[in-house]
Amino acid sequence: MTAQVLAGAPAAAALLSRAAARARTLPRPPGLAIVRLGDDPASVSYVRGKDRKAREVGLQSTVYALPEETSQAELLALIAELNAAYDVDGILVQLPLPPHIDEAAVLRAVDPSKDVDGFHPVNVGELWSGRPGLLPCTPAGVMVLLEHYGIPVAGRRAVVVGRSAIVGRPMAALLLAADATVTLAHRRTPDLGAVTREAEVLVVAAGRPHLVTPEMVRPGAAVVDVGINRVLDAAGVSRLTGDVHPDVAGVAGALTPVPGGVGPMTIAALLANTVTAAERRLGLSGPR
Ligand code: ADP
Repeated sequence: MTAQVLAGAPAAAALLSRAAARARTLPRPPGLAIVRLGDDPASVSYVRGKDRKAREVGLQSTVYALPEETSQAELLALIAELNAAYDVDGILVQLPLPPHIDEAAVLRAVDPSKDVDGFHPVNVGELWSGRPGLLPCTPAGVMVLLEHYGIPVAGRRAVVVGRSAIVGRPMAALLLAADATVTLAHRRTPDLGAVTREAEVLVVAAGRPHLVTPEMVRPGAAVVDVGINRVLDAAGVSRLTGDVHPDVAGVAGALTPVPGGVGPMTIAALLANTVTAAERRLGLSGPR
């Protein structure tokens, strides 16, 4: 068997066009403020990508590129200003922040109604209590991807590998909200393969290249690879590879590629969140 390829591009394009259509019905364009500190090349490039896509979808996007040495107080003052700004609906603080900044304190300072990354403890709490507010982008993107390809979740066994605050934990909460029976596995899980073999839907977000090998996968399972690892190939060329071994394609029923699977979904989910935040703030929440 060769797994169906769950490419992110078509699912992301569909989500973005729905978000753009919703944005057009609002009295003003949804506003997104993107804050970054310093010149980390990965952050600069992620921010550029988010800003460009935001404009394509019809959002009003502004990038606040602050120097690396910006103090915590200065950063908090900017966030307070953005919290108070009428035409800012979404605030995104690009992580990681430099070591002199208390990341958790910064994330707590963002108004939960503008927290389009879904990282504020209020949004985390609402997600786990089954009354979702703004959803973390990567797991929300994974749910849209599964839906796009008609992969059922309700009533099925789902296993998530990795319990990070950004991916694994919220992923488990969303699968649970979608009526899956969920297991959350992690570094200390003994016999990981025995656990992952139970999965009809397997989501891997451990940051370990090729952690999941074919014998760890139930035949026919839908496998979502959230890992993006930079590794050197045999010729010494730097390549992106996932947490799932490519040979899993011979066992799984469906598999996301890396790159080009979950990656495109994350930005699309962020922009859809920004439209949702604008609808709510303008008192016009329509269908998702
Ligand atoms: P991400 O940002 O993709 O969520 P993190 O590096 O923040 O990744 O988190 C890695 C998560 O993956 C941790 O929760 C850790 O417990 C889990 N993990 C790492 N290595 C393994 C492993 N060998 N087996 C199972 N889980 C693992």
